[in-house]
Amino acid sequence: MSDCLFCKIASGEIPADVVATSDTALAFRDIQPRTRVHVLVVPRDHHETLAGMAAVDAQGAADLFTLAGEVAAAEGIADTGYRLISNVGEDGGQEVGHVHVHLLGGQRVGPMVATRG
Ligand code: 5GP
Ligand code: ZN
Repeated sequence: MSDCLFCKIASGEIPADVVATSDTALAFRDIQPRTRVHVLVVPRDHHETLAGMAAVDAQGAADLFTLAGEVAAAEGIADTGYRLISNVGEDGGQEVGHVHVHLLGGQRVGPMVATRG
């Protein structure tokens, strides 16, 4: 997608602090880290949602979690634990319409949800 931020990061057109790559995915530090370790894992191909991606490219979706695990190990947080989040749509708080999994850790990441509306 020509106008997608994470497609541009994946192609190298926009710089990012890339910490790991695979054939199908890359991982880079979130520009506004919410935790000590906050890395985004994204597919190289453009997909809007994780479920939509899984429906057409199950292996690619699985690859995201493999790479997330590798990043957790490289960051030294595989044993202390971490949280993986994929926000979907407006209610989910998705700001970038290209699949991404947030890897959050390096500290206690707190309650899973803030409020029940
Ligand atoms: P979402 O809200 O869509 O789940 O998450 C999008 C994430 O992308 C946010 O945590 C935001 O800080 C991050 N982000 C937005 N723009 C950039 C950017 O240009 N570079 C990087 N590395 N992260 C970004
Ligand atoms: Zn994209």
